[in-house]
Amino acid sequence: MIITREIKEEYAKKRALALAASEERKRAVFALVPRLEQIEALRRELIFDMGLKLRLADDKGAVRKEVMEHIAILDAEQTELFKQYGITEEYLAPQFECAQCNDTGFVGEFEKQMCKCLKQRLLEQQYATSHISGAESFETFNLDIFKKPRQRQLMEAVKMQMEEYCDSFPNNDKNDILLMGDAGLGKTFLLNCIAKRLSDKGFGVLKLTSYNLINNVLKSMRGEPFDFISPDLLIIDDLGTEPMIPNVTREHLFATVNERQNAHKPTVIATNLLPEELQEAYGERLFSRIVAPRMTKIIKLTGDNVRIAVK
Ligand SMILES: [Zn+2]
Repeated sequence: MIITREIKEEYAKKRALALAASEERKRAVFALVPRLEQIEALRRELIFDMGLKLRLADDKGAVRKEVMEHIAILDAEQTELFKQYGITEEYLAPQFECAQCNDTGFVGEFEKQMCKCLKQRLLEQQYATSHISGAESFETFNLDIFKKPRQRQLMEAVKMQMEEYCDSFPNNDKNDILLMGDAGLGKTFLLNCIAKRLSDKGFGVLKLTSYNLINNVLKSMRGEPFDFISPDLLIIDDLGTEPMIPNVTREHLFATVNERQNAHKPTVIATNLLPEELQEAYGERLFSRIVAPRMTKIIKLTGDNVRIAVK
């Protein structure tokens, strides 16, 4: 998942706001009870001086003990004043939106890991930028739109397969899906269902059209790097509608699919093209990756009936 500059700034800003608000509360409290400010200053001084004393002292333990005793006396006085004026530690502490990461977006002392809140934020951003429709989901999937019983039955079977895929994700026997069929048969809807279900489960899902993918490749060639490999699932809609730029389109599509397969990162592709058209457009090398029988579940939706062909 990509942490954009926008999100970095958003986190820096909300953290700064929380810190500033807490500073302000503290200043108001100090104005009311000046002794509290003195206590804080004394405590800081003691700790600073301890550093100097420790360097010179023979009995470092004694120095430490003396300072700690001093600090304990100051703490006790502070507690007493807090009680007297009805002030709490919580009131003075910064009120971060996320108590886990203090609005830094990262947790872990030694190995920094993305906090849940940041992961969630990135997913929300994906909903906004990747056209994952929150409204199109397995829950809102209405099979009644398929008027012919046979088509309805088969679509139901496809839906079930897709839900099973999501249930086992990312440990499916066949990690990749190629969804084929003419326009208007519900391919994009199905892609949205998968995107929504897996996003809700906390996976990083990047969904974009093949056209957008190539646009992003062009941008990254101009110095705006775009990461196609780290999302847990990459969904490419409308393969075949992208501009066929010599030395770019085929090469980068191949690199993307190939790198993801090597990294065991699932990719789901939808296309209106027929297998022979795919082969013709992308060449044998990419075609064999996209339809790799051991890796890819191929699902064909056809006009009046939805035929499921699993290779
Ligand atoms: Zn957090």
